Amino acid sequence: MSRTTTATIHLGALRHNLARIKAMAAPARVMAVVKADAYGHGLERVARALDAEAECFAVAALGDGLRLRAAGHRQRIVVLSGPDQPGDIAEMQRLRLDAAIHHEAQLHWLAEAVPGRGRLRVWLKIDSGMHRLGFPPERAAGVHACLAAMPGLDPEIGLLSHFAESEVFDGEATRRQIACFEQATRGLAAPRSLSNSAAVLGWPEARVDWVRTGGLLYGLSVVEGKSGADFGFRPAMTLATRLIAINHVRKGERIGYNGTWTCPEDMPVGVAAVGYGDGYPRSAASGTPVRVGDATVPLVGRVSMDLITLDLREAPQARVGERVVLWGPQLPVETVARHAGTISYDLTCGMTRRVLFVED
Ligand code: PLP
Repeated sequence: MSRTTTATIHLGALRHNLARIKAMAAPARVMAVVKADAYGHGLERVARALDAEAECFAVAALGDGLRLRAAGHRQRIVVLSGPDQPGDIAEMQRLRLDAAIHHEAQLHWLAEAVPGRGRLRVWLKIDSGMHRLGFPPERAAGVHACLAAMPGLDPEIGLLSHFAESEVFDGEATRRQIACFEQATRGLAAPRSLSNSAAVLGWPEARVDWVRTGGLLYGLSVVEGKSGADFGFRPAMTLATRLIAINHVRKGERIGYNGTWTCPEDMPVGVAAVGYGDGYPRSAASGTPVRVGDATVPLVGRVSMDLITLDLREAPQARVGERVVLWGPQLPVETVARHAGTISYDLTCGMTRRVLFVED
């Protein structure tokens, strides 16, 4: 095996997490969000692991829907922001992908589309306050009526909106978004979808007909100070490598590029074969925890392209060749993300092609 850094994807954790989401969300139904290559875990791998239990997948782009159909998945697939161009409509019809209609331009494309075989299923996306994608709330009823009158569309038009900060439990912004969505869609007979992962945890009133969960599926949390495990979910990725050198460095010597960390005493410094070239975040600061064997030690100095350096004073038993875990069940990726000034999703999405993916 020429590559040292491995991402192990825990298929049992994925299944456990989906079952837990379903139990929490019931009676709402679950869209398993597998966009961005299933948050870096591998689209086909994750979809295969969840095929028997997932009622619906959600992706960001048409191409991911195509990949899922090519892999033989037959369940409902929602493209959360497509069609992106007029030609996508016929392709979505052919592939039986649900479209998310969020902009005037898409209404024109739909009106001019040559009716294909099968009725296109659509969701109307409403901007309830995030101001990213969606029609203004006051247009919801009008656009809904317009879509309902279009030939070639499934008569059941879904209604959806997305939260900007549902991880702030009890926050005013989410409360306002829920109220805005409720008011905008009042009286419309249609299935509704509001909740992302954090909302499933903290906003039971927003679960409505469908929830759209990505993070929790992979055992990831964006709730401040909490890991997915704190809510009973299991991390689906372990990122690991090996220790390839242990150097004895003198007090006062500086470690790595730009010498950002100085040895407070004569000490062992370990070198592990992982860096930002693998997707380990360059922004991970000195002090970021890393597992070496059974010990947790701090990263010291800058993250390089291929290597990181570790303070091994608390791991005197460490030897060259020892397994090093960057994140996984024993070390929450949320903790690493906090030290790197980002969120866990960003880290799992960032694995590069150099990383070897394996399954257990
Ligand atoms: N719905 C939409 C429209 C999204 O953009 C996303 C992800 O960003 C999700 C659902 C899933 O969010 P989460 O991974 O936090 O569950």
